[in-house]
Amino acid sequence: MNKQIENLFDRHFGGFGRLYASPGRVNLIGEHTDYNLGFVLPGAIDKAIYMAIRPGAGSLCRIYSADYDEAVEFDLHAIQNPEQQWARYIFGVVQEMQKRGAVLGGFDAVFGGDVPLGAGLSSSAALESVAAFALNDLFEAGFDRRALAEIGQMTEHHYVGVRCGIMDQFASLFGEREKVIQLDCRSLEYRLVPFRPVGYRVLLLDTQVKHSLASSEYNVRREQCEEGVAVVARHESGVVSLRDVTLEMLSAYKQDMSEVVYRRCHFVVSENQRVLDACDALERGDYADFGQQMFASHRGLSGEYEVSCPELDFLAEKAREFDGVLGARMMGGGFGGCTINVIEASAHDAFVREASDSYQKRFGIAPRVIDVVISDGARRLK
Ligand code: ADP
Ligand code: MG
Repeated sequence: MNKQIENLFDRHFGGFGRLYASPGRVNLIGEHTDYNLGFVLPGAIDKAIYMAIRPGAGSLCRIYSADYDEAVEFDLHAIQNPEQQWARYIFGVVQEMQKRGAVLGGFDAVFGGDVPLGAGLSSSAALESVAAFALNDLFEAGFDRRALAEIGQMTEHHYVGVRCGIMDQFASLFGEREKVIQLDCRSLEYRLVPFRPVGYRVLLLDTQVKHSLASSEYNVRREQCEEGVAVVARHESGVVSLRDVTLEMLSAYKQDMSEVVYRRCHFVVSENQRVLDACDALERGDYADFGQQMFASHRGLSGEYEVSCPELDFLAEKAREFDGVLGARMMGGGFGGCTINVIEASAHDAFVREASDSYQKRFGIAPRVIDVVISDGARRLK
C-alpha cells in the first residue's frame, strides 16, 4: 500500500516525499456512552490512510487522492471549502491548524488507504489524523497528539458538518499495538489497557445495511438521556450527566420517569460499568469474561436502548450460539453497520462460513468480512 502511494507521488509530482500513516479504529465496548460523558474502549487497527507529502512552492497545496483518482488544489489562505468531500478533510485540517497559530507552507501530497469507507471504522478520522500528523511533523508546528485529535474533530464539525465526539481521532492518534484505549469522555483522560488476545482474532461482520432511522433516533436517545438526568438532578446535587448517575439512583427515582426513559438510562449507566469491568478482565487476561461483557453490551443496545436492527441481532445471535466466539456485539451508532466479534483463531473460518451462509439465506446479501488486528496509531514510516 505505502509503496503504491510512493510510486503515485513520483508519477504526479516527481521524486519522493515523507511517508505517514494513520489508522482507522474499532470500539470494543462502550456504545452510546460518549455523549453521556462516559467511557469508551477503542483501538487502532491495521488498516490505515497513507500519505506521501513534501513541502511545495509558496502557499499552494496540491493533493492527489489515489482512491478517487482526483486532484485538488487550494491556497493555504483560501476561504472556500473545496467541492470534493475528501478534500474538505484536508482543507479543514489546514485551516484548523492555522487558526491555532501554525505557520504552514504549501505542499504536494498523495494519499490513499485500505480503511473501508462508511463501515464504522472511521476512515474519515484516519484521513484527518494522517493529514494533521504529517503537516505537524513536516512544518514542525509543535502540536501534541491531543491537539491533533482536536484539530481532526473540529475539521468534522466546521468543514464536513458532522458533530462527532473525539473518540475516533483519539484512537487514530493514540493507538498502540496490543493495547486498547480506555477513554473517559468527560475528562478526556485516557489509559492504555493491554489487549493481547493470543490465539484469538477480532472479526467484523458488516451487515451492509444502514437503516434511515439512525440519525432521527440518535437525537431521540440524546433527549431521553437528558430527560433521565433532569429527573435525577431534581433529587441529587451534582448530577449533570448520566456519568454521575448510579443504578441505585435510577431505581430510587424510577417512578418519576417514563418506563422508556428509565430503560435508556439503565442501559447507559450499565454500559459504563461494563467498560470498566471489561478493562479489569483485560488486565487479568481473561478474554472469556471480556467476551461476556460484549454479549451483555449487545443485549442492552438491542433490548434496552433499542438501536439494533434485525440484521445486527441475527449476526450477534449467530455469534452467541457458535462455539469458539468469546464475545460479539453491534459496533457504532446502530441500525446497521458491523458486529465486532472476538473469536478463537481456530474457529474463525468455520464461523465466517456459517454466519455468511445463514445471513445470505435470511437477508439475501452476504455480510462483508473484515479481519482486524489492533495496531499502532499515527506515525511516520521509514
Ligand atoms: P467513516 O465511518 O468511514 O468515517 P465517513 O462518511 O465519516 O465514514 O467518511 C468517509 C469519507 O472520508 C469519504 O466519503 C471520503 O470523503 C473520505 N475518505 C475516507 N477514506 C478515503 C480514502 N481512502 N480516499 C479518499 N477519501 C477518503
Ligand atoms: Mg467518519
